[in-house]
Amino acid sequence: MKNIADKTERKTLKKLQDLINSRSIKPSEAWGCFSNPKSVHAFKKYTVNFTDEEIKSLNELREKVKKILKQKISKRCAYCKRAMGQHGMSWNIEHIRCKSKHPKMTFALNNLTYACLDCNLVKNNAVDNKANYIFDIIDPNSKGFRYGENIGFLQLSTDSIHVLKYKPMSKAGNKTYEKLKFRELEHIELLCSLNDTIGSLCDRIDERLPRLASSDDTLELAEFLQNMKFRLI
Ligand SMILES: [Zn+2]
Repeated sequence: MKNIADKTERKTLKKLQDLINSRSIKPSEAWGCFSNPKSVHAFKKYTVNFTDEEIKSLNELREKVKKILKQKISKRCAYCKRAMGQHGMSWNIEHIRCKSKHPKMTFALNNLTYACLDCNLVKNNAVDNKANYIFDIIDPNSKGFRYGENIGFLQLSTDSIHVLKYKPMSKAGNKTYEKLKFRELEHIELLCSLNDTIGSLCDRIDERLPRLASSDDTLELAEFLQNMKFRLI
């Protein structure tokens, strides 16, 4: 992010990165400060204070980052390619390499993208928080990356049916299909379009997920609800 930040923004960003490097706060806490800056952030080990100028600088930098990322991904989830605004889903800035394992990449623009909440939550469990952390899924920001060389993607909608189909075409594409549960996504999208009751149940879960997933305290509940959605099939 340094490259797109002005002098004040760079200084505030450095303050957060220094706090991560000195282990005063966790990368997730620093990211919380960046995502929703306020004058006092009291964490277990440390309290972060921001001046009005620092808060303004973080808000402005975050907007710049969002704009760049949205343009880059053409307003589609970087992993499943479903379009933004569908399913009443919220869209999180996604750390490709998770910040707890790669704290120095917490604010690295080339480690950030947009993902839908389904992919974001599933990736948390299946990749980021695995005891033996192995990153073997697609990296949409890697040099020369082309989605179509890794995963074939077909989306077809009529008045009465919605079909979503993936075809893994590379090793990383296979791992993404398997770990991010694309088969379940295919089934749930089809089922929701065929059955109104299941469709509206999924919508109601999707409406509640963003708020639950935005706090560490209720993240487990968000994952439970999302799991329930995938079990409807
Ligand atoms: Zn997705």
